[in-house]
Amino acid sequence: MSERMVRQFMEMVAIDSESGNEARMMEYLLKAVREAGGEAELDAYGNLIGRFPAKGTEANEPILLSCHGDTVKPGVGIKPVLKDGVVRSGGDTILGADDKAGIAEVLEALRTAEVRPPVELAVSRQEETGLQGVKNLDFSKLTAKYGFLMDNDTLDTIVIGGPSYFAIDVKVIGRAAHAGMEPEKGINAIQAAAKAIAALRLGRLDAETTANVGVINGGLIRNGVPDVCTFLAECRSAVHEKGERLAQEMVATVRAEVERAGAKVEIEADNLCRAVRISETAKSVRIAQQALRKVGVEAKPIFITGFTDASIYNNHGIEMAVVGIGAQNEHTTRE
Ligand SMILES: [Zn+2]
Repeated sequence: MSERMVRQFMEMVAIDSESGNEARMMEYLLKAVREAGGEAELDAYGNLIGRFPAKGTEANEPILLSCHGDTVKPGVGIKPVLKDGVVRSGGDTILGADDKAGIAEVLEALRTAEVRPPVELAVSRQEETGLQGVKNLDFSKLTAKYGFLMDNDTLDTIVIGGPSYFAIDVKVIGRAAHAGMEPEKGINAIQAAAKAIAALRLGRLDAETTANVGVINGGLIRNGVPDVCTFLAECRSAVHEKGERLAQEMVATVRAEVERAGAKVEIEADNLCRAVRISETAKSVRIAQQALRKVGVEAKPIFITGFTDASIYNNHGIEMAVVGIGAQNEHTTRE
């Protein structure tokens, strides 16, 4: 492995860039892309778009290489530790290999490849908090019809698709009252929310569909009937229509149960991304497999129930395969 790449990787993870706070990382990348022989700019949302001319070939069909520049928490003050050829987090933060390992690999490839077609580079913001960056990416600046997203952990799989994803935010509104003196004047928002959640179908509902409630908040004091309780739910399915039906069912169930309990409810349901599946023999998949075979890795195409920026690129008609970056235990302090 190129020492230069490892050094740059460690430099990049030391730049704080939790989702929403990527400005310094993007400044760094503008410079890094120019130093690697490309042009770079930020779009109106702050995503980075870079361009590299072809080298050693007449080929003029561009490819897109893409990564995300943000990290999850805890990602402030990361001190990477290099030992026995492995870079680890210091133990009190994540490492940020997701996705800066991908960025380091792309930059090194661009510096060292002797033959390459024209390359477009896109580094998005706010991937980890719902793909906001790529959703607001200025697609008019891209011309590639296919490419590769470096954001899969394992090297021996190539992600060819992801599910439709629905985020459901619920606010249950009851009525506050003293719990001991006049409880009959109150409407307990926590209890109404609990009834609604208990009535939902959660977990793995079939081979391609899941649902979850992941956050609940409510109440201020033990001796008060709480007037507000909020919770965050989600559902996903490999089949878009199924996910859509399930989201509607969840909204209807919550509404019916909360109203039965005498409380009011405000629900926001958002389709954050639409199910995608590219062919196992798509051009991007075949090229990635060929390249990996050259270094002794047999990679098989897989469909995942998580989602990546690739879903949005594919929704926009850019065929993207997601290839591995060699990260492990991402989103944990053992990364
Ligand atoms: Zn990632």
